[in-house]
Amino acid sequence: MAQGAPAYRRRQIWSWLARGAAGFDEMRDVPKSLRAALEAEFAVTSLRPIAVSQADRSLTTKTLYELDGGHSVEAVVMRYSDRTTLCISSQAGCPVGCPFCATGKFPFGRNLKAHEIVEQAIDAQRLLSGEGRRLSHVVFMGMGEPMANYNAVIESVRRLADPDLLGISPRRIVLSTSGMIPRIEQLAEEKISVTLAISLHAARDELRDVLVPINRKYPVRDLVAAAQAYAEKTGRRVSYEWVMLAGVNDTARDAHELGALLRRKLAHVNLIPFNPVDDTPYQAPDRNAIREFRDRVEAQGLNVTVRDTRGREADAACGQLHERVMRTRISA
Ligand code: SAH
Ligand code: SF4
Repeated sequence: MAQGAPAYRRRQIWSWLARGAAGFDEMRDVPKSLRAALEAEFAVTSLRPIAVSQADRSLTTKTLYELDGGHSVEAVVMRYSDRTTLCISSQAGCPVGCPFCATGKFPFGRNLKAHEIVEQAIDAQRLLSGEGRRLSHVVFMGMGEPMANYNAVIESVRRLADPDLLGISPRRIVLSTSGMIPRIEQLAEEKISVTLAISLHAARDELRDVLVPINRKYPVRDLVAAAQAYAEKTGRRVSYEWVMLAGVNDTARDAHELGALLRRKLAHVNLIPFNPVDDTPYQAPDRNAIREFRDRVEAQGLNVTVRDTRGREADAACGQLHERVMRTRISA
């Protein structure tokens, strides 16, 4: 049976899954008896797609999956000329509750199992195989706080990186966190050099306490010190995310504070134009304000990029398709 099968059979099966097999039946080099046993006992995925939306002339595909037990999570495929990136979820909902984020608006559901995280990538690869594309990058920027589901996330990263499965280099896997310092320290001890992204959004505690409530426990200077230690240990530059909220964190003062905080750090700043979420008091700054902020931060010697707003039409910031479907269900 499957459990008793030799290791090379397991690798064969993984490799079929990674190439996008929709069922065990398709795995031609696996003996028929084993295929039948697998087909009877297992499903190739536990995720059920319940809504799909496309944007950016079909370069972006967002899927909402129902999990066993009824919670739902989303994953977004973004196709570029030189890469294909998948944004995945690690939790149904999120316990952190940032006030600008659609995911934080619903009660926390549950942690995803490692296999549920990996299945999002396998399902994306299945879609991409049909287009002659390969998944090259995975970012944990969908629903949930990956560091709050640490063990499953690390296990899923190991499987994503496994050359017999998806073979995605850890450098091309981004773990994005609101700033759970003990987990960042733990991650630095693992022998996997993933790219770390810190959702900074404010450089002073007074404002960050509001925008990223976990800051009350893990203040911003300690957070940057932990991220810098990670960068020094792994040799990998940390990416600092800054969601741009008009009049809130896009002022000259904010740019100056950000520059002072990250000066001489192994850092890259990513400015993310806010993707509007209903029932929040926030708005996206206009293009000029974003440019001005970028120039101010750059003038202080930092590396800065403005993230493109892929998938805006597909409700692609974290939690937004989920939010739309939930709203329809509640009002139905
Ligand atoms: N919980 C983790 C990872 C998921 S959120 C974290 O916070 O880092 C991934 C990124 O999307 C974070 O940087 C988050 O701040 C950002 N984000 C959340 N809501 C957004 C919105 N409405 N518009 C733009 N970015 C958003
Ligand atoms: Fe959670 Fe990240 Fe959304 Fe904050 S931004 S509520 S940490 S998913």
